[in-house]
Amino acid sequence: MSIEIRQHPRIVDAETCEKGCTCGGEHPAPEVTLYSGEDAAQIMAEDCRAVYADRPVLMLSDPETHAVAGEELENQLRTVGVNLATHQFDSNPVATAALIETVRAIGRDKALIISVGSGTVNDLGKYSASEEQIDFWCLPTAPSMNGYTSGIAAIKVKGVKRTLPAAPPKRIYAKPSVIQQAPLKLRQAGFCDVLAKVVSDIDWQCESLLFSGSYCGLPSAMMTTVEKSYSEHAEEIGQGDEAAVMGLFHGLLISGVAMSLAGSSAPASGGEHLVSHFWDMREPLTGREPELHGLQVGVGIILSTACYRRLRDLSAGDLPQQAEDLFAATAARIPDIWGPYADEVAKQFQGKRDALLQFDSLLPEKWDELQALFQQVQPPEYFAELFARTGAPFNLEAFRLTEEEFMLAALNSRAIRERITVLDLAAHAGVLEAAAQETLNLLR
Ligand SMILES: [Zn+2]
Ligand SMILES: [Zn+2]
Repeated sequence: MSIEIRQHPRIVDAETCEKGCTCGGEHPAPEVTLYSGEDAAQIMAEDCRAVYADRPVLMLSDPETHAVAGEELENQLRTVGVNLATHQFDSNPVATAALIETVRAIGRDKALIISVGSGTVNDLGKYSASEEQIDFWCLPTAPSMNGYTSGIAAIKVKGVKRTLPAAPPKRIYAKPSVIQQAPLKLRQAGFCDVLAKVVSDIDWQCESLLFSGSYCGLPSAMMTTVEKSYSEHAEEIGQGDEAAVMGLFHGLLISGVAMSLAGSSAPASGGEHLVSHFWDMREPLTGREPELHGLQVGVGIILSTACYRRLRDLSAGDLPQQAEDLFAATAARIPDIWGPYADEVAKQFQGKRDALLQFDSLLPEKWDELQALFQQVQPPEYFAELFARTGAPFNLEAFRLTEEEFMLAALNSRAIRERITVLDLAAHAGVLEAAAQETLNLLR
């Protein structure tokens, strides 16, 4: 007996990719499909049986995600006769290299890995499957980040969180009632992560205007089609309203695709993401367990928008000539901040030295065009208030961040990546410190 294999719609179709492109480049749409419905577990199990027949399948979950979705999926998979192995992580797993080894060892002889969960469970499955070159599907349990559809995974290697390439899932199955009832903090984190696009897209346009010319309007055009369904509904997302939370969830899925479409994480990752990476990387030095990715990014959004507002008030004649001195002064702080990791950070910062040294001449020359971009960004108060309207506190204390650690990140996170972002522009223009102070006042 042959069972028909169902095909579900792609999250982004080829036509959308063609129409939205402004760069003339190639953007093959990733073949990630989505099935969304209350019977998601049953449909996923039937599809799994139809595609893999008797071949072995591994399902990953943790105690929390097992309770809300994993148990039901496991039952469904067994009911239809899938050759199933399961592995349950401890509560709040961390995606370490050691845990990856465990998953790879169990997954090696399997045809498919299924992750039931959000950030970490998803990353563990996605990265392990990708390394073993086996298929990967997922059943998300929270609208907490845009990583479900992205081509990267956050893995902790030797104590430091890294973003490593990993093939996105082939199929995603979502049960709306599960997504909708995810803990408030996870919904708030996803809300911040999806809104990061609003500022990171401007970061990308500034960088493109100054250096690479790589900007494409496609990711932004893709987001515009869904933006309204979540951006004006902070309270509803906080209250768990189905339409608003599912709108947020779809926004996150599309934002992940947008990231992989552009061939880099630029469209969904600018200066606002750097502060989050900074705190992730500082964990072995400070002992502070990182907060949810999206929430740290939310803090970064306030900082970026504070920078944009200050830059907006400057004219070309106000710009100092200080590229060389500023580079040296920032580089000189790296050993103190990074200790054993200083060499690696210094290498990243060195990677953009040439670009930064051009700021003395390039910024005044392009200032009018840059200004037009700065004007498009909403003020920091707008975002601070928006994030708090979800009903969960949005301040440094809630995220276990001291004022010192915040200021350190605000002033120095631009050194940890080669990419040029608004933090570099603000530092050169001499407004980064004031913008950081302003952010601090909004997050007390
Ligand atoms: Zn394009
Ligand atoms: Zn993000």
